[in-house]
Amino acid sequence: MRIPLDRQNPLPLYAQIENHLRQGILSGSLAPETRLPASRQLAQDLGVNRITVENAYSALEADGLVFSRVGSGTYVLPTNPLPKISKTSADASWPLWQQNLPDRGLGARAAVEGMRLSAGHPDPISFAGGVSDSRLFPADDFRKVLQAVMRRDGIDALDYGDRRGYAPLRETIAHILASQGLQISPENVLITAGSQQALALVSQLLLEPGDTILVESPTYSGALDLFRALNFKIISVPVDGQGMQVDLLEKQLQQHHPKLIYTIPNFHNPTGTCLSGARRHQLIVLSDRYNVPILEDDFVGDLRYEGRAQPALKALDPGGRVIHVSTFSKMLMPGLRVGFLVADGPVYDSLVKFKRVNDLATSGLIQRALEDYVTVGRYQAHLRRSSGIFHKRRDAMLVAIQRHLPVGIQIDPPQGGLFLWMKLPQNLSADALLPLAISEGVDFMPGSGFFLEEADGLNWLRLNFVVHTEEKIEDGIKRLGRAVKRLQSIS
Ligand code: PMP
Repeated sequence: MRIPLDRQNPLPLYAQIENHLRQGILSGSLAPETRLPASRQLAQDLGVNRITVENAYSALEADGLVFSRVGSGTYVLPTNPLPKISKTSADASWPLWQQNLPDRGLGARAAVEGMRLSAGHPDPISFAGGVSDSRLFPADDFRKVLQAVMRRDGIDALDYGDRRGYAPLRETIAHILASQGLQISPENVLITAGSQQALALVSQLLLEPGDTILVESPTYSGALDLFRALNFKIISVPVDGQGMQVDLLEKQLQQHHPKLIYTIPNFHNPTGTCLSGARRHQLIVLSDRYNVPILEDDFVGDLRYEGRAQPALKALDPGGRVIHVSTFSKMLMPGLRVGFLVADGPVYDSLVKFKRVNDLATSGLIQRALEDYVTVGRYQAHLRRSSGIFHKRRDAMLVAIQRHLPVGIQIDPPQGGLFLWMKLPQNLSADALLPLAISEGVDFMPGSGFFLEEADGLNWLRLNFVVHTEEKIEDGIKRLGRAVKRLQSIS
């Protein structure tokens, strides 16, 4: 145990130890039943006399915060939890630097984000999430895999390992991508902590604060938040039924000279659209002509229920133009925090080094377990099963929308992915609908968070159709229908 001691402080050492432990106990960071270090050991660790530690323990015992068991040690006793101090950031008792933290746009949508289903309803149904159905993840198998990996690799599994990522996992990823028509070498794969880290690494490496990035409008709110937090100037090109309107791109490139184009070409978040084949080719040509790299975020490209897949932008790249990013968060579980990027040319080495200074490495244990778990065959089987289920759920949501929502709803059914993107009729506002929906026991993502100008998304909302069973979807959309009617009656 480390306790900071200040030998210049007039407060005696035993009191400093006592205060430190008291704070730990009262704040809960030292949980009830925690065994404090033996006084001899702590005295040695802190370079003080044993009596000093014993005096501190006695003072805590006298106040009923610890008790000693003869021959066993000193243990923390349960306390009444301290009331949480709720101070605003403007509170003058915080140090000055804490009162003046840069905002970085991080609190921009706090009000709407804070409105979630946790409040109230006995059987809430959330369509707000950005991931797939966790019940499909075979948790028991994964637990066994984790144990088997520890048995097989022992302590090696807990080392930093190869900074590019565990080599066999990079190979498996290359096989998976090859099965999707993207031929790459494992030497070009960098494993990251989710694809969010890949987005952060690429954009921070290529852009300085104040530089311009081009995104689709709308686009993934987590990317917008990231680019805002990094102080980039963000410009956008609108999305239609065939993805980014690439014909509007050239003018933007000429006018604003962005340093990076961020795009989600498959089952776009939030709209669910796919970039057409012709536009993919056009995008690569423009990237070349204007010397701008493309950041391709393929977060659910393999979750296709119908229609034909278009080649990845990376597959059309003659070399070094496109950085491809993907993740295991959506197909498996987001808490694994394993994603990856594929890059070639000098930028790959820079990204490896940049990742290293950011977090040293991604968990080797999880990478090994994932590699063991995600043999290509098993991954493909999981994908087929999930796609079959999600396809039916998408259809169930479309039917329920027809049945329970008023006419005038605008929707363009996606051929895969996770989301339905819906426009409310009569200029109804999704932000205004949300509290009513929550009171009915259902929620969704309001569209405004996906736009640079929030007002552009006011009538839109995003529904995740993969997380619930068909019955729940029917029930949830019925509740949403009631909320829309209530909003219509007061608008
Ligand atoms: N890209 C898109 C389009 C997403 O929707 C998300 C998560 N919702 C991510 C990237 C990041 O996910 P993760 O870091 O879990 O891979």
